[in-house]
Amino acid sequence: MTAAYLAKLNDAQRRAAEFGVERPLLVIAGAGSGKTNTLAHRVAHLIVTGADPRRILLMTFSRRASSEMCARVRRICKEAMDARADILADALTWAGTFHSIGARLLREQALNIGLDPDFTIHDREDSADLLNLARHDLGLSKTEKRFPTKGTCLAIYSRAVNAQAPIEEVLGRNFPWCAGWADELKKLFAAYVEAKQAQNVLDYDDLLLYWAQMMQEPALAAELGARFDHVLVDEYQDTNRLQASILLGLKPDGRGLTAVGDDAQSIYAFRAAEVRNILDFPGQFTPPAEVVTLERNYRSTQHILEAANSVIALAKERFSKNLWTERTSAERPALVVVRDETDQANFVAEKVLEARETGMRLKDQAVLFRASHHSGPLEVELTRRNIPFVKFGGLKFLDSAHVKDVLAFLRFSQNPRDRMSGFRLLQLLPGVGPAAARKILDRIAPEAAPLHMLASLPAPSKTGEHWGALVEVLRAPSSWPSDLSRAKNWYEPHLERLHEDAVTRKIDLAQLEVIAQNYPSREKFLTELTLDPPDATSAEAGVPLRDEDYLILSTIHSAKGQEWKSVFVLNVVDGCIPSDLATGTSAEIEEERRLLYVAMTRAKDHLRLITPQRFFTHGQHSRGDRHVYAARSRFIPTEILPNFDTIGWPAVRADEKGPALQTRVDLGARMRGMWK
Ligand code: ATP
Ligand code: MG
Repeated sequence: MTAAYLAKLNDAQRRAAEFGVERPLLVIAGAGSGKTNTLAHRVAHLIVTGADPRRILLMTFSRRASSEMCARVRRICKEAMDARADILADALTWAGTFHSIGARLLREQALNIGLDPDFTIHDREDSADLLNLARHDLGLSKTEKRFPTKGTCLAIYSRAVNAQAPIEEVLGRNFPWCAGWADELKKLFAAYVEAKQAQNVLDYDDLLLYWAQMMQEPALAAELGARFDHVLVDEYQDTNRLQASILLGLKPDGRGLTAVGDDAQSIYAFRAAEVRNILDFPGQFTPPAEVVTLERNYRSTQHILEAANSVIALAKERFSKNLWTERTSAERPALVVVRDETDQANFVAEKVLEARETGMRLKDQAVLFRASHHSGPLEVELTRRNIPFVKFGGLKFLDSAHVKDVLAFLRFSQNPRDRMSGFRLLQLLPGVGPAAARKILDRIAPEAAPLHMLASLPAPSKTGEHWGALVEVLRAPSSWPSDLSRAKNWYEPHLERLHEDAVTRKIDLAQLEVIAQNYPSREKFLTELTLDPPDATSAEAGVPLRDEDYLILSTIHSAKGQEWKSVFVLNVVDGCIPSDLATGTSAEIEEERRLLYVAMTRAKDHLRLITPQRFFTHGQHSRGDRHVYAARSRFIPTEILPNFDTIGWPAVRADEKGPALQTRVDLGARMRGMWK
């Protein structure tokens, strides 16, 4: 007999949820078919039938996805069990992203693998800056103007690490214009790795790399593998080789391993994700993995699904799937032709408010775009109309200078060898520039107790009483979360001195203090914030509180796995989707197609793709900012147009077409009538 809490699943979903552990399991299925839902039921089922939740490792794509999954598991457990459910579901402590789990394991095992447990984690910007310093030290930027930029260098490094591929191969395949620099780049990367080690910092890629390296050590691999009875991964199509090797290291025979994903939604090849990971998964093991496919889509109406299917059906290569739905609706997805981005913003704002009038919450509506800066004009319009919104992906709260300053303080006090943080922090003092900061850091770095050494240095000229104040707060004993308040109090006078808009910036810092309350320690706070920073909110429209209603703005990448009643996709034109930065190879174009598919399949009831006839490009390829005339995205060729209702907006343009006619005749109806 089926347990009641599994009764809502369809047969295939239930088979996956109840499948045993004797063989690995792969659920491969299209968008909205309930993969994530099934995974949550599987975890709940494991717990209900006696698995120890502390021995379950559950990896999702983002922190948000992880907390949603845990909440779902808790709900299902509650339905199935008595009061113990909460306690058990709360013990699901190993749930998170690959990177956050990696950081936690590395800190725990640090002493076993030659790391200092106080390591700090660099975000991409810090990593690029550190790489840049190494580049200067090697004289690589001076000797050759055409040497790749720091961003490109980091991208090459990251790709080589994540794909576990030799640099020559990465250059040849993904950065052909840098192919002549292989030797210099190798030297640079060696220097970068040395600098990281000397400063006791890890970058994002290190979190996976060190973890994968741990799994190469038989004793450590056995110990870590034995710690988890079950390892489950959502969105497996977006994992890279390192991640696959970590999983294989944890569960070499695949017992207790579950992967879930959709090859048609693989959108992270640019970060070395390998769609082959999911396609090759079953055959990696003996006996091979059990494969469950799900074909019924529960999310979208038939018209939306048909339109999305017609887009992906044109893909060059795919694991063919049959998705169907029982959700009917008379409304077709719309292809909205507008004049430019201003009209696009107006259109979205009006339709959002109209829907709001009919009772649809703002939270049930989302606006998706290819690149973070595409939402600029819309953000202005929403602010003007007082429509609150939250933006996912792209610029983060933590990217603002003042928040970075305070975090640099915390990082430096945790790990005074972290040069990038020290560099940033010291230069906040009046009179301290890059050269002086570097000198100070050089003096203290080799010391056993760098902060103690700092205190014994003479105050640099012009710093006045600020020097002593900084040294004193840095050396104060750590206690959380008062460390943050202390950092903030120290920083505020500098903030007032350095920024005219100190008032709004102080509000951000106050918010940071609130966020800090949720973390048990300084180290945990820094790790989590660096790995998965909070999303930017519309500060001017007032920061929306938790239970307030707000519209969702998101890059398509960050919308993965989510769903809304109504979805708008901005700039569905060539140059944006596909992005003109990604039209190099056919593999890149195919990834952009899947991106549009991901965007469209987020919609439950209403989907509108917008194509401005003109849009503004930001000075890419150093041609400066300019307007370009856009064509409808090549992913919506004429033959699939019948899946959409094409509409122009505004319907009649008084300014361009003369005054609107007073009389209206439906000529279409007349034409149809002629044949009746
Ligand atoms: P994506 O590929 O976008 O990640 P997914 O396959 O993970 O999608 P889910 O997000 O798990 O799909 O589910 C999509 C929607 O369908 C959710 O609203 C979910 O609650 C609903 N759903 C899933 N399975 C069922 C079911 N058996 N009965 C009713 N609704 C379901
Ligand atoms: Mg999902």
